[in-house]
Amino acid sequence: MRLRYRCPGCRTTSNLHDPGCDFEGVDRLEVETAHTDLLSVLSARSVGEEALREAVPGRWSGLHTAVLSRLRGDQRVVEDNGSLRLLEPEEFKDRVARPTFEPLQTIYETGSVPGAHDHSVFAMVAFYEMVGLSWEEARENTVEWLRESGTWDRGGFEESAPEELVDEKKHVYEEGYGWKQAATEAKAVIDRRL
Ligand SMILES: [Zn+2]
Repeated sequence: MRLRYRCPGCRTTSNLHDPGCDFEGVDRLEVETAHTDLLSVLSARSVGEEALREAVPGRWSGLHTAVLSRLRGDQRVVEDNGSLRLLEPEEFKDRVARPTFEPLQTIYETGSVPGAHDHSVFAMVAFYEMVGLSWEEARENTVEWLRESGTWDRGGFEESAPEELVDEKKHVYEEGYGWKQAATEAKAVIDRRL
């Protein structure tokens, strides 16, 4: 489990932002500082947003707002009764194992079909990488999904086991490819077939 301090706009972990990113020109160090400012407060206690703004060291900035919004979008931070709470690693892992938004939700719940397998497995691995799971965790979740969604039983694989199939997608994890395009293409095929 690791929390990479990504740009809240384009998710880069370097100084090279995507063209058009709102934080183009913002240094890595500033992105990291905004994260540690928020996490230093949230890892100690749950607080309302107003109190959080006052508790961070230094002045609250637009970057803080964007990082907080991204942490909430990624379900690292959740709101309980008006308080912002940083999820424990185990709780977070359980939550992100089941994507609840499209197009990943269809892939996760319905499973993949022949013709969509390559994109589906790519998307699942890329998603688990993006939310910060280790390779072992991403691999375990993807293998479990292949079995439990019925994907593996539908066939259409050259590999002899789900583990082997997922291992072939390790480069997706290592390169940090995005999941969106692969997931969109996979869902289109699944929707046509099922
Ligand atoms: Zn950026």
